Amino acid sequence: MATIEDFNFNDKKALIRVDFNVPLNEEQQVTDTTRIHAAKPTIIKVLEDGGSAILMSHLGRPKGEVNPELSLGHIVDTVSEIIGVHVIFVDDCVGEKAEQAVSNLQPGQILLLENLRFYSEETKGDTQFAEQLSKLGDIYINDAFGTAHRAHASTTIVAQFFENAKCFGSLLAKEIDAIDKVMKTGEKPVLAILGGAKVSSKITIIENILPKVDHLIIGGGMTYTFVKAQGGKIGDSICEDYKQELALEILKKAEALGVQIHLPVDVLAADSFSNDANTKEVDVTNIPDGWQGLDAGTVSMQRFKEVVLASKTILWNGPLGVFEMENFAKGTIELGNFISEATKNGSFSLVGGGDSVAAVKQFGFADKVSYVSTGGGAMLESLEGKTLPGIAAIQA
Ligand code: AMP
Repeated sequence: MATIEDFNFNDKKALIRVDFNVPLNEEQQVTDTTRIHAAKPTIIKVLEDGGSAILMSHLGRPKGEVNPELSLGHIVDTVSEIIGVHVIFVDDCVGEKAEQAVSNLQPGQILLLENLRFYSEETKGDTQFAEQLSKLGDIYINDAFGTAHRAHASTTIVAQFFENAKCFGSLLAKEIDAIDKVMKTGEKPVLAILGGAKVSSKITIIENILPKVDHLIIGGGMTYTFVKAQGGKIGDSICEDYKQELALEILKKAEALGVQIHLPVDVLAADSFSNDANTKEVDVTNIPDGWQGLDAGTVSMQRFKEVVLASKTILWNGPLGVFEMENFAKGTIELGNFISEATKNGSFSLVGGGDSVAAVKQFGFADKVSYVSTGGGAMLESLEGKTLPGIAAIQA
């Protein structure tokens, strides 16, 4: 795996694909700077070597045309502040203007290009557009894990113009490493915790990780499809009836592989899908009609605690309950605490994919787990066992 550590950027122009797709408020101010901070180590390495950095990214979904609201010009000051170096901005990402700005660039300087998606060629993975981009740098660095699952011009196609002069940035290398630690080299026992709403959105992940784990905790809304398939009474809980057979197949496969599956045994049920609903803890196989399970129960959490604390490698994707509502967030918060404790005791923990990342941030666990993935879709596709085009392009 070629990383920035394999290169010396002295006097080189590094073309870096970063993920600056950051949220902006109505005044076009950045409201979450996580992604900019995440890109900093790679940029600093290039500058400290004596090189210059040309940053390219997309922002939002401008649909292939110029949209002033989605100009990366809005984030220049924030990037300058975070990196600690004045960032120069050019309001195009290819062509004469961009090429001129690059040729004026001196070692130690940073240039930010305009939103790549102002050109429809970007998401189409257009080769000519990628070639134009490639003219802007001597070495290509991909540090955008969030878009590594897309075969876009700047994330994948451009790499073919940099034979022996392409590598992963430190963020992307860390993401790959963290996923490998769970999927390939993780110390046993390996535990995966999958929550979230639906079996259908997690099924490929479950199938791919079953042979790699010793324990699998299934929680959240997925629980009820499994419970109903086994003959349980789930009241009004969320359920994908057409996935019941698949749920039984998964249980059978797990048994054959020697994987222990842990489902909630009790749940916090509510008489409506609302934070103000009446609640009671009930047996997961006997939920009354008119009630729905919205969080894991006390006995379940005690069991989950034992499994988490006994595991050396832990992957967490998806909340254990409807954590957006305060009254049904307890299971997810407790699980975060157990994983934090296991991490403190020396276990490796990776949290990734959409809502679980939101949960660890919201409840303050982000720096208590080993690694929080920055890429939602890319992380999920990695866990599904897919080769991400942006990663394959560097390795080609
Ligand atoms: P996902 O994006 O698949 O990880 O799903 C996350 C969503 O699952 C969150 O919005 C949760 O509110 C939801 N969820 C978790 N547990 C339940 C449940 N028991 N019933 C309904 N939705 C749930």
